[in-house]
Amino acid sequence: MGIINDIELTEYFSLYEFECPCCRRVMLSPDLFARLNHLRMVINRPVYINSGYRCKEENKRVGGVSGSYHLLGMAVDIHVKDFLLFDLLLFAQGIGFNGIGFYEKKNFLHLDIRPGPKRVWKGSKLIGY
Ligand SMILES: [Zn+2]
Ligand SMILES: [Zn+2]
Repeated sequence: MGIINDIELTEYFSLYEFECPCCRRVMLSPDLFARLNHLRMVINRPVYINSGYRCKEENKRVGGVSGSYHLLGMAVDIHVKDFLLFDLLLFAQGIGFNGIGFYEKKNFLHLDIRPGPKRVWKGSKLIGY
């Protein structure tokens, strides 16, 4: 008997890495996942998922916005060791993540595949696309 969500999706990622930490439920958009694998391949370094799917309660707990794409399995927060966050941002833009949050102090990127206009933000400021 395996542990729930202990399923290798690709050589890079297992399903449990995307699950909600409070309830282990998980939603994962194939589009988001394809882009994430692309990013992983291009930078050729381990990509750590800080936050994948979140249920409502978990999203509240971590202070996420109410319409967060984490609630839909369409967003991930990631970090890569020994890799400039700004370089990671440039790669992520090239791969076509539509929403990118730049969190310099905590050294992670939020990536999502929202429909509509693309945006890159840092705190409350739009910084690009
Ligand atoms: Zn949960
Ligand atoms: Zn996020």
